[in-house]
Amino acid sequence: MAEEADVIVVGGGLAGLVAATEIADAGKRVIVVDQEGEQSLGGQAFWSFGGLFLVDTPEQRRLGIKDSYDLAVQDWLGSAGFDRDEDLWPRRWAEAYVAFAAGEKRAWLRAMGHRIFPVVGWAERGGYDAMGHGNSVPRFHVTWGTGPGIVEPFERRAREAERAGRLTFKFRHRVDALTISNGRVDGVSGAILEPDHVERGKSSSRKVAGDFTLRAQAVIVASGGIGGNHDLVRHNWPERLGKAPENMISGVPEHVDGRMIGIIEAAGARLINRDRMWHYVEGIRNWSPIWPRHGIRILPGPSSLWFDATGRRLPSPLFPGSDTLGQLQYIMSTGHDYSWFVLTQSIIKKEFALSGSEQNPDLTGKSWLMTARRATNKGAPAPVEAFKTHGVDFIVRDNLADLVSAMNALVGNDLLKVENLKAQIEARDREIANPYAKDTQVLNIHNARRYVGDRLIRTAKPHRILDPAHGPLIAVKLNILTRKTLGGFETDLDSRVFGQDGKIMPGLYAAGEAAGFGGGGMHGYRSLEGTFLGGCLFSGRNAGRAAARAS
Ligand SMILES: Cc1cc2nc3c(=O)[nH]c(=O)nc-3n(C[C@H](O)[C@H](O)[C@H](O)COP(=O)(O)OP(=O)(O)OC[C@H]3O[C@@H](n4cnc5c(N)ncnc54)[C@H](O)[C@@H]3O)c2cc1C
Repeated sequence: MAEEADVIVVGGGLAGLVAATEIADAGKRVIVVDQEGEQSLGGQAFWSFGGLFLVDTPEQRRLGIKDSYDLAVQDWLGSAGFDRDEDLWPRRWAEAYVAFAAGEKRAWLRAMGHRIFPVVGWAERGGYDAMGHGNSVPRFHVTWGTGPGIVEPFERRAREAERAGRLTFKFRHRVDALTISNGRVDGVSGAILEPDHVERGKSSSRKVAGDFTLRAQAVIVASGGIGGNHDLVRHNWPERLGKAPENMISGVPEHVDGRMIGIIEAAGARLINRDRMWHYVEGIRNWSPIWPRHGIRILPGPSSLWFDATGRRLPSPLFPGSDTLGQLQYIMSTGHDYSWFVLTQSIIKKEFALSGSEQNPDLTGKSWLMTARRATNKGAPAPVEAFKTHGVDFIVRDNLADLVSAMNALVGNDLLKVENLKAQIEARDREIANPYAKDTQVLNIHNARRYVGDRLIRTAKPHRILDPAHGPLIAVKLNILTRKTLGGFETDLDSRVFGQDGKIMPGLYAAGEAAGFGGGGMHGYRSLEGTFLGGCLFSGRNAGRAAARAS
């Protein structure tokens, strides 16, 4: 006889954990199934930077930021660019999600012990008009404790439910199919994978040791996206972004394989907006990799000069931290799948942050002493310095001629000409003498420094790139880094999945990245950042509560 519960959750990432804890708290029995071992509980969220999109918070107000639901919706809609019939539910989810981020999200997390680092970050700054892409104000709230700090409250609640007998984990159980009886999804079946005690995040064995079937009144799919499966990323790559990159690195572990998405689609669920994805353009190869093709994203401050592979400066407003999708589109239009930052030691020490829990031991380890060093500006954080020393994408030289010849040597061509780069850098350097320049990137730097958070820890004092006092010069080769899936299964606000016939599939729910974080793509084309973990919280909570009510 197959084991039974009220609800089965596929995936022990953040969305699955949130859903499962809501179900258990409602007094129902839930089974959480995950193909990975217990050591990987929390999925991608564990590795994340823990950045959360929140609106009109005490943290913002303390820094003098005036935010509101209306401003955030304006920004969200300007970034999403919803333009399809199937954007009906994604748009409803977007509005509901911004209301959550401006409403109970912070208090709900706080009641579970979640805390926030006091300096609010300013991601995706746009640079178009008020109705265009980007955050009008800083909104990126970093979890004190980064990724592990956002997983912790839900893992704690799940363990309590496990002890109370309402929640069961089934690790190393890989779902291969849904079971459907009389038109209703009523379980899952699949393979039990052999035990494997590899470190968290490393690829685990796929050797099958048995099979299983589980039954329930509802199944919630929270199996993540496709970012670890480059074949699928290339397959879904949209024409509007040019040819899919030949070389990509992975910002997610291999288990983010998209396999479950294919299984659910084959069972009749409606997958929408699969061509919308969120990949970064500031990826660097990890010198100490955990998963295959492991890359890290640089979260850049505003001052690095950005050149394409041929040595042309990226056009305004495609400056560091402005418009990830616009940058990707531009870079792919050059016929090359990489670009370059050129900067100084003064910039790297103040402006480079690396996304991910393991790259931020100060915030992850909740050390005020270590974190305070970010503001004292004595040197770059240790993980950044380590990349500068060991990272294959970093070049450090005392003069521009040597820098450019090392850049050409790294990529094995001679596309970059020192005179060309020199002319562009000197022109930019002339603009730095006044606080009222015409170079839009220089204007952005002055604007950033008017925000106390940026002046404190994110934006270097304006200086000439070729001023030896701020050297040495640094070049960083930037690769395309796969990360997030913006499309997903179309769901209503209760996270119930629509079938390909346009009707709700009874018994089937989707949450997190598998649901495009809600509705099948609540971000539209672009994200304002910090919206993915938040999307897991919101859609996981909705799915869990609705499935518990219905079962
Ligand atoms: C380095 C890094 C930094 C990030 N930083 C941020 C940030 O600062 N802010 C932000 O908002 N977002 C961030 N993100 C993104 C965010 O962490 C993810 O989008 C989110 O955690 C996805 O959660 P999920 O629960 O939907 O999926 P996942 O975490 O991918 O979990 C899915 C789970 O399902 C399991 N699974 C899949 N298929 C099956 C199957 N067939 N059978 C059984 N189990 C299966 C997988 O093993 C996995 O454990 C970051 C991500 C990374 C990797």
